[in-house]
Amino acid sequence: MNTLQTPIDYLKGVGPSRADLLKKELGIFTYQDLINLFPNRYLDKTKYYKINQLQRNASEVQIVGKIINLKMVEQKRGKRLVATFQDETGTLELVWFRGQKWIKDSIKLNVPYVVFGKCNWFNGFSIPHPDLELLTEHKASIRSAMQAIYPSTEKLTNKGVSNKAKIKLMQNLFQETGAKFQETLSPLLINELKLISKTEAVFNIHFPKNAELLAKAQFRLKFEELFFIQLQLILKNISRKHKIKGFPFDQVGELFTEFYKNHLPFELTGAQKRVIKEIRNDLGSNAQMNRLLQGDVGSGKTIVALMTVLLAIDNDFQATLMAPTEILATQHYHGITELVKDLNINVRLLTGSTKTAQRRIIHQELEEGSLHLLIGTHAILEDKVKFKNLGLAIIDEQHRFGVAQRAKLWKKNSFPPHILVMTATPIPRTLAMSLYGDLDISIIDELPPGRKAIKTVHRYDSNRLKVFAFMRDEIKKGRQVYIVYPLIQESEQLDYKDLMDGFESISRDFPKPDYQISIVHGKMKPADKEFEMQRFIKGETQIMVATTVIEVGVNVPNASMMIIESSERFGLSQLHQLRGRVGRGAEQSFCILMTSYKLSTEAKTRLETMVRTNDGFELAEVDLKLRGPGDLMGTQQSGVLNLKIADIVKDNDILQLARNYAMHILKDDPSLIKEENKVLKYTYHQIGKHKNIWNYIS
Ligand code: ADP
Ligand code: MG
Repeated sequence: MNTLQTPIDYLKGVGPSRADLLKKELGIFTYQDLINLFPNRYLDKTKYYKINQLQRNASEVQIVGKIINLKMVEQKRGKRLVATFQDETGTLELVWFRGQKWIKDSIKLNVPYVVFGKCNWFNGFSIPHPDLELLTEHKASIRSAMQAIYPSTEKLTNKGVSNKAKIKLMQNLFQETGAKFQETLSPLLINELKLISKTEAVFNIHFPKNAELLAKAQFRLKFEELFFIQLQLILKNISRKHKIKGFPFDQVGELFTEFYKNHLPFELTGAQKRVIKEIRNDLGSNAQMNRLLQGDVGSGKTIVALMTVLLAIDNDFQATLMAPTEILATQHYHGITELVKDLNINVRLLTGSTKTAQRRIIHQELEEGSLHLLIGTHAILEDKVKFKNLGLAIIDEQHRFGVAQRAKLWKKNSFPPHILVMTATPIPRTLAMSLYGDLDISIIDELPPGRKAIKTVHRYDSNRLKVFAFMRDEIKKGRQVYIVYPLIQESEQLDYKDLMDGFESISRDFPKPDYQISIVHGKMKPADKEFEMQRFIKGETQIMVATTVIEVGVNVPNASMMIIESSERFGLSQLHQLRGRVGRGAEQSFCILMTSYKLSTEAKTRLETMVRTNDGFELAEVDLKLRGPGDLMGTQQSGVLNLKIADIVKDNDILQLARNYAMHILKDDPSLIKEENKVLKYTYHQIGKHKNIWNYIS
């Protein structure tokens, strides 16, 4: 008997050319791969329709009746065969455009048939190329109640590997293997969750006996898939904590205490305090910290980062803070040097535009150990940048950095430094669990007190005059305004033109000397950008016209109005980021989403969601539903989401369940050595051996 690792070439019905197609088109190399070709959907073959029940938009239907008339119809574009099909409630037409002769000869008039197919309506109902079966044969044949529809590609269809052919192959496979499949889950899980056996599940996913068994099969296989992914992620986390020693920061030293007591510019929020505690626990243990800090825009992550840095310095380690843009790095630098100006620590800034002389100083001080905190951009990752004793690396706004870059930071010391990743793009819990199951997660879910919720509205371009009038009022009150234009890589030229046109028209409506305007865009030199930013930060200009370069992190508390032009062109998380630039002071802030009248349904949903809520997590959930997980995280990280049967969005509840069970089991038996977990360990290793079954995080 053939095992599941048998090459697909050996399966009955698979010749060399089919084998080739299956490999290339569907990635099916073994019997196991074919088993894991899960149907996209099912046709319900338990339901029979009467002709008078058909609806114009009906999909596949199954009807019992007789063919009472058969004729060839000549057409300009060739012949077609038309049969009149009748049941006791009415008639419809069956139509064939190909293979008419063979069909005509095989059809029997006035005997009961079962007809199955997709029903069209055009001046009456018709079914093109239906499946036909004599009622007597239909009754005699063993069939599943629901018929699987498998994923396909154009090439497969063209080469005759139809759905029927795939069903046939699957039947052959079940015959050859005896349709018995080794159990992969433990008896405990099966009993507790009332799961059907692996064999039953695999059978019913391909040949469902009824809707209930299909649902059970789907549940069991989805659970299994998600469970083993979670098991792997959690095991990875446990093993990292065992294997990778961290630098224990056991001192809560002078700097931290001094800062906390005498220099903290405000009372920390409860959430900030909790998160600092979580971080301190990590740093005090012997394991390396690998923590994701999620907090909505404006929730105050910077101060948490700074206090973590102070802990590192207190323990005689160096620290680094990396930001995705020069503007943001510079702003962090200014903000942090201001906060620590009375503490005796050495902080420097390293970006792409740092002068050579300054770089030399930085390199030297880093290697000597006299530089305590290096703030900067990707420039920090360069090999020339060597630390004497890097103990902590903080990455701000994670979504701009890839996994590879994170890994580079690890290598800046003989032991990997503690890593804190901060993101303001909240990742839905479901996604975070799948992608970052190997990171610990802290969440700041509370905004500093006194913040007024930003009011968001959607306005059409035709209302621009009113928007400008409102803007004038705000400026009169002493507030500042951002106007943002989209920047999309592919059409940079066009975007630049939009921005410049906009700038000109705003300059006309808001003339000097009453109004001063800053402009910042990607084509400017960093020094010029910085100059313009500073003018705005200092309040010398009231209006900032910019592309999305200001998206991340920029902090000007006096700015109370954000106007986003062509906002239908932005993604949800980007809109939310932009909106987060206002609402940072004590004043009521506004976000105005400008669009033309032409909006796609998806764009409408995005705008409505923005108007409805300020909650970044809620937005992230909507975003996930709109765009799917791959898109949300960038292709780089979407590999893990290459799920065979589960859907990270729709099967959220199963994911949660799987994670809970995985944690529970590993807590009790971290190495899976208990008898009752043996089968889990075995399956886990099997999956590891045959990596093509599932993909994993690098
Ligand atoms: P983000 O999480 O977006 O990086 P920041 O760290 O830039 O947020 O903080 C946003 C603003 O809120 C800053 O002006 C900061 O000084 C202020 N802030 C942070 N924490 C508090 C707090 N506990 N109370 C009052 N203001 C705070
Ligand atoms: Mg920030």
